[in-house]
Amino acid sequence: MKTFPMFLTLSGREVVIAGGGEQAAQKARLILKTEADLTLVAPELDPELAALVAAGRARHHAGAICPACFGDAALVFIATGCPGVDRALHALAKEAGALVNVVDQPALCDAVTPSIVDRDPVVVAIGTEGTAPVLARQIKTRVEQMLEPRLGDLAAMAGRMREAVAARVPADRRRAFWRWVFDGAPRTLHASGAERDAARALKAAMEEGRAPDACETGLISLVGAGPGARDLLTLRAVQRLQEADVIFYDRLVDPEVLELARRDAERVYVGKAVGAHAWPQEKIDAVIVAAAKRGQRVVRLKSGDPGIFGRATEELDAARQNGIAVEVVPGVTAASAAAAATGRALTERGATDRVVFATGTCRPGDADPDWASLLLPGTTLALYMAVSKAPAVQANLLSAGVSPDSEVELVASASTTGETVTRCPLSDLAATVVAQKVQNPAIIFIRRPKTAAIMVETSPNVAADASGPAPAQMPRLAALA
Ligand code: SAH
Repeated sequence: MKTFPMFLTLSGREVVIAGGGEQAAQKARLILKTEADLTLVAPELDPELAALVAAGRARHHAGAICPACFGDAALVFIATGCPGVDRALHALAKEAGALVNVVDQPALCDAVTPSIVDRDPVVVAIGTEGTAPVLARQIKTRVEQMLEPRLGDLAAMAGRMREAVAARVPADRRRAFWRWVFDGAPRTLHASGAERDAARALKAAMEEGRAPDACETGLISLVGAGPGARDLLTLRAVQRLQEADVIFYDRLVDPEVLELARRDAERVYVGKAVGAHAWPQEKIDAVIVAAAKRGQRVVRLKSGDPGIFGRATEELDAARQNGIAVEVVPGVTAASAAAAATGRALTERGATDRVVFATGTCRPGDADPDWASLLLPGTTLALYMAVSKAPAVQANLLSAGVSPDSEVELVASASTTGETVTRCPLSDLAATVVAQKVQNPAIIFIRRPKTAAIMVETSPNVAADASGPAPAQMPRLAALA
């Protein structure tokens, strides 16, 4: 970031605008939204600005301009419409040590004005550091649509009630209380124009000392963080991250993804390097349950999809055994992202009609899987956590009679900036991993097309084959049969 967003306190402070024409008037309209004391420095004012002065909403300094004109200002806008004059005035304002914005001259600006969505006291400021004003405009339009026009009034009411709520609602229930105000009945009522009902609901809950039930109990969300790229998160995942009180995340979760979380959410790394279980699963189960029991919204953020080689079952069981509500928010699994990286589909009609997700790393002590049995003809095999097992995979498949020419694709760090795709025949798998230094995390795809006989898909006999696809999914076959 070249600029840092801050909200400047302007109540009772002076803002100086140098200029008397339309540019100055634009800044004046903006500043009059605030509680600042406005001074206009210009020999002459246009009718709009003159009217502001006449109405007592701004002061006018028409005399000689010197650094002292800017000395007390919290903020100075220079907006004469004449670049040469602007530069000269900028020098004077800087001599006075003021924070200065010169209209349309970014190089002379200490601060720039963002695009603003105004639901006072809720204000959204959008900036692109001058790179993309059109984009800022588009974002503004979207945010305008997101925030109902009356939202500011609801926030203002919440502000007025804050102390009263703090006095009646115990601290450990307060976040849930406010969450309910802005997420539940008060917000809905308020947005629909029933402002009094909203206030009544809020006050009734306050007197009870708690939000109506459902919001108070903790919830554990097992959230799929996707394969890495943060725009591969689901909207639901982002929403859970925005609401989380605490986030327990894994080694493979990209820091970019964590940036989408609520800023105040506590973040706890519970990563496990393969083989080195810094955080044993039982400990993870225990801490997520304990957090939910305190009434916190817990996000257990797992790479890819939580239900695929993610030890979700243990965490689901732990939650249920403790009577805690738990949900799974699915994510894009690594194999999907890896297939996208290869530019190919996971299933290719006529060649592969089955996808098998398997892992190369089982529990310590377990025998290696029988990969050959996973790779029947007509299969795309996606191997997770298998890079270090490449020699065994290759040997096992070859000795089971899988063709040495079978296509292998190794996709590392799919969807991230470090993504790589490497292709080789099965007979070169182990050597390729070494030669190309294929690193985890990676998916190994091995494709074994159907045998020629099975590939004749117009044969009625195939449709009759119980192991084949259902006729409903293959209209051409159904029509022939
Ligand atoms: N639940 C995850 C898988 C966790 S197991 C999912 O659904 O994707 C960890 C393994 O996933 C890694 O060893 C690797 O095989 C694979 N993996 C995770 N992220 C990956 C990525 N960005 N690119 C390729 N493989 C990845």
